[in-house]
Amino acid sequence: MSRIAYVNGRYLPMRDAKVHVEDRGYQFADAVYEVCEVRGGRLIDERRHLDRLKRSLSEMRIAMPVTVRALGVVLREVIARNRIGYGLVYLQIGRGVARRDPAFPLPAVAPSLVVTARSLNRTKNDALAEKGLAVVSVPDTRWGRVDIKTTGLLPNVLARQAAIEQGARDAWFVDKDGFVTEAASSNAWIVTANGKLVTRQADHAILRGITRMVTFEVVKAQGLAIEERAFTLDEAYAAREAFVTSATQIVMPVVSIDGRTIGSGKPGPLAGALRREFHRYTETG
Ligand code: PLP
Repeated sequence: MSRIAYVNGRYLPMRDAKVHVEDRGYQFADAVYEVCEVRGGRLIDERRHLDRLKRSLSEMRIAMPVTVRALGVVLREVIARNRIGYGLVYLQIGRGVARRDPAFPLPAVAPSLVVTARSLNRTKNDALAEKGLAVVSVPDTRWGRVDIKTTGLLPNVLARQAAIEQGARDAWFVDKDGFVTEAASSNAWIVTANGKLVTRQADHAILRGITRMVTFEVVKAQGLAIEERAFTLDEAYAAREAFVTSATQIVMPVVSIDGRTIGSGKPGPLAGALRREFHRYTETG
């Protein structure tokens, strides 16, 4: 069965799902995106993701191409047409197609909308969570507004590739002052040597992850506290536990950073508990 994508009003087989060569998303990364988890064929945390999408669009001054309700219909249709039980749905909205010029097109052109979906291997994801990830640190060379979820992900691409080439799975960005910002496609967390759960404050230097937000609720319900602050790489090396959060990885333990073992070298109990409890706090649509 061919995968089906939604492209500007049409559901098309992947081989016919094409965008224009002068699409500004392609030329300038002048586009924003969202990735939602699909579980049991249902969309997870649609409201929170679409709220963040609206914020990204507003920061970029890109118009919403369809109503939120219509977008919800398209997301579900793409999930259904691709028969996704467990996986992800991806949506991208760009400023549209215009003759190449960095300034916004005048008059404005119709924003573009693309939606795709794919299955993920849940058994494999769970097996990875049992084992934990090795990560490496890389300098955070990204622009100053990574709180906007744009498709401008080149530093993330290079960071992930650097990790793979060093035999690791993911990369943690470190800012010029030596503080961890986040991972290449997830938020970074540690449980410090004295048991404090720490993740960086949501300023312009990280993406305000939806999974991060839901994890706050899981933690709160367990009666634990979170310190929302920057932490150094040295603090991370000495941590009792480390993990990352994202829509497709949920809570994923990290067992080594730059070749240094974190805690016992095995996924920590807190990360495990948060992962198990996580879906009690999500919204299923
Ligand atoms: N940080 C970055 C750089 C990301 O790319 C992502 C997800 O793609 C996240 C954090 C986690 O966000 P979410 O939990 O909404 O998936």
